[in-house]
Parts: sequence; structure tokens; C-alpha cells
Amino acid sequence: MLYSEIADVFGRLEATGSRLEMTSILAEFFGRLEPSELRNVIYLSQGRLHPDFYPIELGMADRLVLKAVAKAAGYPEEEAERIWQKEGDPGIVAEDLISRKRQRTLFSETLTLEAVVEGLTEIERSDGKDSQSQKMKILSRLLSNSEPEGAKYLCRIVTGRMRTGASAMTVLDALAECFADKSARPEIERAFNVTCDMGLVGETLARGGMAAVSEMKVSVGSPIKVMLAERLPSLPEVMARMDGRCAMEFKYDGMRIQAHISEGGAVLYSRRLENLTGNFPDIAEHLSSALKGKEAIIEGECVAVDPETGTLLPFQTVTHRRRKHGMDSAVRDIPVRLFMFDMLFLDGEDMTQTPYAERRRVLSESFSEDPLLTLTTMEVVESEAEAEEFFDRAIASRCEGVMAKSLSDASVYRAGSRGFLWIKYKKDYHQALTDTFDLVAVGAFYGMGKRAGKYGALLMASPDTETGRFCTVCKLGTGFDDAFLDALPEMLEPYRTESCPKSVEARMVPDVWFEPGLVLEVAGAEISVSPIHTAAWGWVKDDAGIGIRFPRYTGRLRDDKGPDAATSVQEIFGMYEMQGSDRA
Ligand code: ATP
Repeated sequence: MLYSEIADVFGRLEATGSRLEMTSILAEFFGRLEPSELRNVIYLSQGRLHPDFYPIELGMADRLVLKAVAKAAGYPEEEAERIWQKEGDPGIVAEDLISRKRQRTLFSETLTLEAVVEGLTEIERSDGKDSQSQKMKILSRLLSNSEPEGAKYLCRIVTGRMRTGASAMTVLDALAECFADKSARPEIERAFNVTCDMGLVGETLARGGMAAVSEMKVSVGSPIKVMLAERLPSLPEVMARMDGRCAMEFKYDGMRIQAHISEGGAVLYSRRLENLTGNFPDIAEHLSSALKGKEAIIEGECVAVDPETGTLLPFQTVTHRRRKHGMDSAVRDIPVRLFMFDMLFLDGEDMTQTPYAERRRVLSESFSEDPLLTLTTMEVVESEAEAEEFFDRAIASRCEGVMAKSLSDASVYRAGSRGFLWIKYKKDYHQALTDTFDLVAVGAFYGMGKRAGKYGALLMASPDTETGRFCTVCKLGTGFDDAFLDALPEMLEPYRTESCPKSVEARMVPDVWFEPGLVLEVAGAEISVSPIHTAAWGWVKDDAGIGIRFPRYTGRLRDDKGPDAATSVQEIFGMYEMQGSDRA
């Protein structure tokens, strides 16, 4: 397969704004690929060479990429830099300069998909003192053999910013359309949710059809998309929804961890699929030694604790483990404990389809006693009074609320989905009308007065799970301290883009646009109908969306969440409705 054919498809994806059209472009193209080619094309379409959880990223810095572009096209680096300053995207620089190439390649080859994958693999593996210049040379070689459009996407792949608008969900739609039909879509998504590897799902489908996809199971070493909870505004509503009886657990405010334990040790993943083993070596070691079986996948919340009193410490404390260098001292200075709440796999058996009560029983029997590992506090409650009493105990123990979990036979572990099998109820719901929101920065407004020269406010958006697009919900300018305002431009620079990104729906126009990337926690006073924000457009009223009033940054950067995991438009709409019923 020629790489130029793939670049042509990426170009067509970028040119259309319609998800349906993207799906049919991809579906038609997928049908022309060999299974192994399909796998690589799927990864490349997401700006990667491997599944998301693969520990090494290509991640070349923009300036290094510009060097490679200048070298390949035979222009001085200043020329590449000049265009980049204007466009902010090394891909555009490459497309421009390669199309005006001054230098004919000595041995002009025709670039194949295989050669691209090989070259990118070399880039990924270059290591050591000379690695930067090695990476630059390999990329330059690939670029000089590429057409302008192909060069654009090569630069976007190595910087991890594809910007074609084809999300993971669109790729799954296209797989269903190409190899089966719409009815197969949920099963394909299930396979993706239990493996987090879209390339593998594609290749399996191309080789063995839906029968092979249905066989795909969880396995140790391959993270599983986490199950998520719905929220309700009061405990009586929680109990009613659970038919008067459920398991209740303390809801700890820490960092969610999925641990894959095997004889080789334990690997810990964040909910964003980052490998956190290096940050919690003590937890990894204790999980390995305390597991009675050979292999397991478990989930828990990692919380910092006061070693003297055993008191739980606020969320911010545990995040220092991630940011601190010198792990030995961090392990000593920030003691943590893992509160385990689920078991997804044990010694060859996929437990995700087993009801909650049984998973919990197996979890409780699978570890020997250990000072760093404990089960979440849990009780079966059968009345509103018992639920209130349990909630009060959770708050007294410095937890942020409770998690109600269904005890029905249907209470399986629903990887990657949010539903009422788990319902969260937090103490914040007592105080305000709404929960906090995790929102994505898609734009910034320059500040005035004291904030002149910096960003003074951000345009915040939320993902619509139906369309995969980001819709604006508020302009956020409160709750920032000076240090945060100083750090913002650098934090947002990687996402900066010249115009409104294809994945964003906005009516308000900021001074600077960003690709969805940075997620911040925001508190708000109320959700109301808004003519300027695009979330839930037309759902409540024609020609209006919904927006968050009096938004305030809580100080919590959600770098454990990717933009797709931010609070969705559907959730905010649910809160809007809850607010209405509250007031009635
Ligand atoms: P969400 O996870 O729903 O997207 P979020 O990350 O903002 O939202 P919360 O709304 O505070 O988090 O609640 C869900 C999170 O609570 C879980 O993802 C998990 O990390 C944490 N948690 C704490 N205690 C428990 C428990 N006992 N059972 C399940 N999850 C728990």
C-alpha cells in the first residue's frame, strides 16, 4: 500500500465536517486493506503507532520537526520557523515547503505504508545522547520521499496531533459498516472497551469476522476502559432507583488505579491509560506479594494517608506522587493506601460478566492482609435511613460521599460505560444544585488590566457523546491564581490552532483557539438556557443551548482525564433536568 493513498484518505477526512461522511470514507478504505495494514492505518489515523496504553510515544517537539522539514525541502530553518509562527502547525509548514521543494532527492523512492511504519518505529526507538538528531534525520528522510499532503500528516503523527476529526468512535462505526452492519457496532465497541486496542479489534475483525471479535476478552497487560457512575441529587432517589436495596461503598477522593498483576509484577494504569507503576512502586510491590493467585486485574482508589493516624488526606496530596521527582523520597514522604473496589480478572477467568456481589466476594478473598491494601468500606443498605447513616459515616471518615452499587444479577462490570448500576452521591450535592464539571479548554481570551499579556478567560466545552464534538458551555475567568495564569499559555501551547477546530461547535469566538486537550474542574452555580453556548442546542428551546452560570475554576487540573472523558453534554443536560425537578 502506498502511503500517499493513506494521506489522501486523511485529507478527505479533514475536508469534511460530517461524521457520517467520515465513516463512509473510512469504511470504503478499510475494505481495501490487508488485516495487518488495517491495524497500522487505524493507529496512524489517531496519530499513533500503537494502542493508547503503549508506554512509548513518538512525541517529537515542534522545533525538531521543523528542522527535519527544512532539511528535507532544502530551505533554511528560519523559513520553516517563519511559517510555523504564523500557522502554529508543523504539518502545514511541511505541506507548504515540501510542495516548493528546492532539493530533488537523490534516490527518490515511492513511500509505502511499510516504510512509514518502519521509519516511525526507528524514531520511537532512538535513544541516548544522539537521539534527537537521529529522530530528525529519519523524519527528514521520510519527508523527502513524501508528497506534500503525506508530509503534512507525517508531521502531525510524530507530534501526536492528527486533527482529521476522525475520533475513535468514528473508526468503530466504520469498522462495523465495512465488515458487518450497524447491529454489530455495540459488540465491536465492547471488544474495544475490554482491550483498549482499536487496531487489534480491526485486525481481528478483518481476519475472523464478528465471531472472532466476540471471542475477544480482557487480558492481563491490556487495560480495560473503566466503568463509570451516574449521579442522582438525593439519597431517597438513589434508593428508589436501586429498588430499595443496594451495596453502598465509601467514595474515596484519590486517584483511580487499574492494576494488572502477573508473575512478573504489577503494572498500574490511570484511567487515561498512563502507566503509573513508577509513581506507586510500593503499591505495585504489595499487590504482587499479597495476591494469593497468579494473575489478576483489580481496581481501586489510591489515597494519601497520614501514617501516624491513618487519616485520609485530600486528593491534592496523592497527585504530588505524580509530579515529584526522586521516587524514593516521595514514597517515604507521601504514604498512600489502595482502597480496592473491583476485580475484573482472576487466574484465567474474565470476571467482567460476573455480578458485583460475587466479584466483591472474590476480591475480598484474593489478597492476604497487607498494610497498604484494603477493601473499600462497604455495607448492604435496605432503607433510606440506613443510607443516610452510611453517608454520614463516609463524610466523617473524610470521604467525599458514597457509591451505591446494584446487587442485581445484571450488575456486570460495564467497561467504558456510564450507567445506573453504580450511582454516585457526594457531599457537594448537599450544598449546591450541581456537581462540579470537568470541562475542556477550546479557546482563550486575552486578559485586561492586571491580566494584560496573559490569558484572562477560557472558553470551556464539553463532549457530546452522540456526535463526538465539543460544545461550549461557559466562559471561565474566575478561580485562577497568579501562578496558574502564568503557567496557562505554556500548558495550552501544544493545542493552539489557527481557527476553530473541526471537533468544536462554538458561537462565541475567542482570541485564540485550542484543539480539545486540557481538562479543568469547574464549579458552577446553575445551569441555564443560553443563546451563546452550543451544548444541547435546541434540546430545551429552539435556537438556544445550555450554559453554566458563574463558573469558577476549583484549582483541580484533571490531567488524569482526556478530553473525551470530560463531563459530557448528556450529563450536564441530566443535571439541568435534575435542577428543574429539585426546584419544582
Ligand atoms: P467519573 O469517574 O464519573 O467520570 P470523576 O472522575 O469526576 O467522574 P467522581 O464523579 O468524583 O469522579 O466519581 C467517580 C470516581 O470515584 C471513580 O472513577 C473512582 O475513581 C472514584 N471512587 C472512589 N471510591 C470509589 C468506590 N468505592 N467505587 C468506585 N469508584 C470509586
